[in-house]
Amino acid sequence: MALFQTIKTPTVTYEQPLGLFINNEFVKGIEGKTFTTVNPHDENTIASVHEGTAADVDVAVKAARQAFNGPWSKVTPTERGRLLTKLADLLERDIDILAAIEALDNGKAVSMAKIDVTNSAGCIRYYGGWADKIYGQTIDTDSQNFTYTRHEPVGVCGQIIPWNFPLMMWAWKIGPAIATGNTVVMKTAEQTPLSALFAAKLVKEAGFPPGVINIISGFGNTAGAAVSAHMDIDKVAFTGSTLVGRTIMQAAAKSNLKKVTLELGGKSPNIVFPDANLDDAIGWVNFGIYFNHGQCCCAGSRILVHESIYDQFLSRFKQRAEQNIVGDPFHPQTFQGPQVSQRQFERIMEYISTGKNDGATVVTGGARHGDQGYYIQPTIFSDVNENMKIVKEEIFGPVCTVQKFKDEDDVIRIANNSNYGLAAAVHTTNLNTALRVSNAIKAGTVWVNNYNMLHYQVPFGGVKESGLGRELGSYALENYTQIKAVRVYLGNVPF
Ligand code: NAD
Repeated sequence: MALFQTIKTPTVTYEQPLGLFINNEFVKGIEGKTFTTVNPHDENTIASVHEGTAADVDVAVKAARQAFNGPWSKVTPTERGRLLTKLADLLERDIDILAAIEALDNGKAVSMAKIDVTNSAGCIRYYGGWADKIYGQTIDTDSQNFTYTRHEPVGVCGQIIPWNFPLMMWAWKIGPAIATGNTVVMKTAEQTPLSALFAAKLVKEAGFPPGVINIISGFGNTAGAAVSAHMDIDKVAFTGSTLVGRTIMQAAAKSNLKKVTLELGGKSPNIVFPDANLDDAIGWVNFGIYFNHGQCCCAGSRILVHESIYDQFLSRFKQRAEQNIVGDPFHPQTFQGPQVSQRQFERIMEYISTGKNDGATVVTGGARHGDQGYYIQPTIFSDVNENMKIVKEEIFGPVCTVQKFKDEDDVIRIANNSNYGLAAAVHTTNLNTALRVSNAIKAGTVWVNNYNMLHYQVPFGGVKESGLGRELGSYALENYTQIKAVRVYLGNVPF
């Protein structure tokens, strides 16, 4: 099978790499396997890509190790920054192609995909800026010693990413790892391999030495498992389900105790107090759940509304949700495209039937949209209780539940009644309420009077079963550096 293919989309025609990206070359998998990636809009095959398995992960790790020990270790921090900045420029140059790939492969609206590309380039450029600003300390213990710390790269980093933001997850993981001088073996999601491969082409064009960034397309239980269990990978960073997050940690523990960071699922509460500006709150609540078709780990899927405004909120939120334009990702007006895959479509439809069977009321939606593609209507459930499956479990689709609360204590209790703790939001015009509730909620991020406003300068990650460690901002640099203390003794031997 070929290593490149010309792909026509409604907006651009471009050359798509199909091979694994190892040592700056696109290559076939050692076992000669391929797999197809499907357009969720029309269910047709887009392309077959070469599949990486454990043997390919091994080759990629060797390339990454050689680069880490050799040429990459001699590249100055300033040069690392320059390479990342160049890569950011190239991502921006090819924004139309990358946005089209995301729309085709993932199903996200092309207008939203452009924002993903801009944010990915911004993230890479931001970490380019950090590359020559990684400092240790000098520590004055006494006059007989000179002590300093070095923030050294961890080594070869395994990175396993999901399909919901294929390019952005690529950028979030590569930026801090490369800025701090590591090398990378990344396993992309089997549902969305294409944008990462196109971006890999830009890695080579930017001038990165071979072996610094390696991209493996493949499946979780083969290539992914090989990354998490590899004896020569020093760190693994994972984004995806809590279930798989546990197996990654187990594999790390059973192999070489590689460092682990996990960015997992959520069931985030979005709280509306009676003094909130209701128009704004409804806009953010709508965006909080339906952005990216509900396929956000931080989706505001549990909407908690004060009982005094509950009825009014529900009827206006219903109207707002019904205005969301669902359809072809390439239509410029589209807000919500199809779910990423048939499997995800079926999972979400199953949750919708569970909700109905458990006695929740469908306020709007509750069915597939159209008769082709993995489209689901924006769905709101009311009359739910805290024990229902649709309130407790991550659905990862355009489905939310709306519950009433009585007062601040009640809503804090309900909001924290979850195994997850990724994000939350509070809508209120009272500053004291906003700050008290933000402090009381167990989550890695709290948004006040907005939702989903992520930024690459701001740390992101979860508490409880939502994960371990923080991505983005300066905090992510800690995941990719290890501290060495050096003590120089200046006096005479005391013993
Ligand atoms: P997943 O966790 O199975 O997949 C995420 C990544 O992990 C993919 O690259 C996959 O190939 C890899 N993977 C799977 N099994 C692995 C293993 N044993 N070892 C190493 N890597 C492995 O997620 P999914 O099946 O694609 O989606 C299922 C659910 O996960 C979703 O419905 C959603 O709830 C959740 N999810 C969360 C996020 C997030 O951003 N937190 C992203 C995607 C999915």
